[in-house]
Amino acid sequence: MTRKCAIVTGAARGIGLATTDLLLEQGWQVVMVDRDASELTPVAESRERVLALPHDVSNPQEVNRLISQTLDWSGRIDALVNNAGVAEFGPIADCTFDMWRRVMETNLDGVFLCSQAAADALKETRGAIVNIASISGLRASTLRVAYGTSKAAVIHLTKQYAAELGEFGVRANCVCPGPVRTKLAMAVHTQDIIDAYHDAIPLNRYGSERELAEVICFLASEKASYVTGQVVAADGGFDSTGVGLPALRG
Ligand code: NAD
Repeated sequence: MTRKCAIVTGAARGIGLATTDLLLEQGWQVVMVDRDASELTPVAESRERVLALPHDVSNPQEVNRLISQTLDWSGRIDALVNNAGVAEFGPIADCTFDMWRRVMETNLDGVFLCSQAAADALKETRGAIVNIASISGLRASTLRVAYGTSKAAVIHLTKQYAAELGEFGVRANCVCPGPVRTKLAMAVHTQDIIDAYHDAIPLNRYGSERELAEVICFLASEKASYVTGQVVAADGGFDSTGVGLPALRG
């Protein structure tokens, strides 16, 4: 039997790489997409059953090419994990249009373009889309005017896809990670932000890449066959709480 094939964007490191590894453990073949070829090539070379494609998900021509290269390689697409993302934080007053566009291009346009291009192949397999948003898309915070808005849009885009592709058996779900110590997060999380997250999270810690991958792979799998249009916060409880947690702990 042909192995199931997943496309994971932003697969060179962080949550995308952990998701690739868990899918491989579960028997999938994986197309690893990342625009950072220098990081992608060595990690792909050390893995079997992968195809490395150094494309930019915000470029429509490159996205069309990555879908046709995937179909040439595996003949099928069973899951699309839209994980590639960028984080640029700053006050509203300092958010230039260039910064706004850089964030939207990858975080929102990229998810739209890849989902659009993969839709026909996903209909053939009755496959799944898993989008990676953020707790910043669920609750507003300072410095995230572009990032938080892009992620809120990804949450809604997920529901649009679930609504329209459901009749073809294609599911679309969204995972909202809490903080994970990846290169993306560590570039924008100051010590103050790290301390504030620990205070605000019931589980009192950051998550791991693997903990996120477990949720993503569940939603991509047949085990979630009756789940679509859902938003799962894998965030240590951050989204579920209000004020007063540190005081109650004390
Ligand atoms: P990361 O920076 O470690 O990995 C992201 C990868 O995406 C990188 O390898 C990068 O080269 C790639 N990428 C970026 N833009 C791209 C593009 N246009 N085309 C192709 N590849 C591109 O980040 P991560 O922390 O693993 O983040 C993965 C996802 O999880 C992102 O969508 C991020 O917004 C989200 N997220 C992360 C956290 C966290 O705390 N780490 C929290 C919430 C949400």
